[in-house]
Amino acid sequence: MALTALDIYKLLPKTNCKDCGFPTCLAFAMQMAAGKATVDLCPHASEEAKETLGAAAAPPLPKVTIGTGGSEVVLGDETVLFRHEKTFYHPTAFAVSVADDLSPAAFADRLRAIRSLSFERVGQRISVDLVALRCVSGDPAGYARAAASALTATGLPLVLLAPAAPLATAAEAVGGSRPLLAPPHSDLEAAAKIAAERKLPLRVRARGIEGLSAALRSARAAGAKELVADPAAESLADAVADAIHIRRLAILARNRDLAYPAAFDLGDPFPDPFGAAALLIPRYGSLLVLDTADPAEILPLLTLRQNVFTDPQRPIQVEPGVYPIGNVTASSPVLITTNFSLTYFTVRGDVEASRVPAYLLIADVDGMSVLTAWAAGKFTGESIAKMLSGCGIEEKVGHRTLILPGMVARLSGRIEELSSWRVLVGPQESSALPPYLRRLPPAAFDPANA
Ligand code: SF4
Repeated sequence: MALTALDIYKLLPKTNCKDCGFPTCLAFAMQMAAGKATVDLCPHASEEAKETLGAAAAPPLPKVTIGTGGSEVVLGDETVLFRHEKTFYHPTAFAVSVADDLSPAAFADRLRAIRSLSFERVGQRISVDLVALRCVSGDPAGYARAAASALTATGLPLVLLAPAAPLATAAEAVGGSRPLLAPPHSDLEAAAKIAAERKLPLRVRARGIEGLSAALRSARAAGAKELVADPAAESLADAVADAIHIRRLAILARNRDLAYPAAFDLGDPFPDPFGAAALLIPRYGSLLVLDTADPAEILPLLTLRQNVFTDPQRPIQVEPGVYPIGNVTASSPVLITTNFSLTYFTVRGDVEASRVPAYLLIADVDGMSVLTAWAAGKFTGESIAKMLSGCGIEEKVGHRTLILPGMVARLSGRIEELSSWRVLVGPQESSALPPYLRRLPPAAFDPANA
């Protein structure tokens, strides 16, 4: 359990010397309990107090880094059970598998397929994060060569799913890239020694919470430091229950024995891997190994992950401004919407689908959707009139006709009062824009009628 201000105060010198920058020891203790100060600010704290308070201040779920440089993947380092309590920091990582016994051509094809699992959505790139190399050949030298090829071909960090002997050769070949060592349970001790020697992260796999707890203890005893916990679930229900159990123990009970990011190998023969992945993304699966490289399965999972791990306090935004769509002219229609990324890309896609060249004005409303921005007083007649006169659209078109989202039709009168623009109320749903735009009378946008 987290320490209270009173617990912390009891461990401090209680001299109120102010050397920490706070007026009293109690004030300092209150700041520490709120996570706004650390014990190193008190130069007079005893070694015992530093140890106790330092451990209490450590994140309840440790951070594990796989890979290096720009492609490194961080697991764990989370502090809350629910996103609305603060935020989630590190999204579920996806590792797509490849077997080391494929023919050279099939191996290269599979790596190309994994590398291509990268998509643009609402202005962000969403991609799989790692390659999981399954040792099927049993040949240590061949496995090490396959690991080096996978690393070179994809540039992605590796999860090395192999017994101890191939792990040792692969760690020799690609250890500098910080792969995650993922041995079977029977080879845990030998693999833990390799992880300890090379300072590499280690996946510890054992059935059930009790078995996992014991396995993690023995990995720590062998010197492995950065650990990932795999409860070796055999069904969807077990996987979800284990993931929740581990995270609750870590965050709520501050159980250091099991406080590790949870990993799940959803490869064959795991039943319904797609369903399990969809449930484990919002339910504390930190690393998922998948056998599928089918974009039709990967894209929905990446989309779900993007939605779950977007901080709702920081909506994804696009730059406000004037966006021409198609071969615009001075007679092109002008539409307006807000700079919430999902809104922008939805409206833009529907305008493109209409094949009617148009200008899209994007209002700066701190990344809110149309109705939210209107309710928050950020998308108003005043702000729209100001944008119309200041964004440069009046130099681009000869007419003065604005298409307003149907959801905020009530703003039309105020816009017309405050600007020289006439307002047409557009559809309530963006999906209705293509037929709406195609039916617009050209005379409405004729500069001669301005
Ligand atoms: Fe108390 Fe330490 Fe701060 Fe001095 S420096 S007031 S002893 S907490």
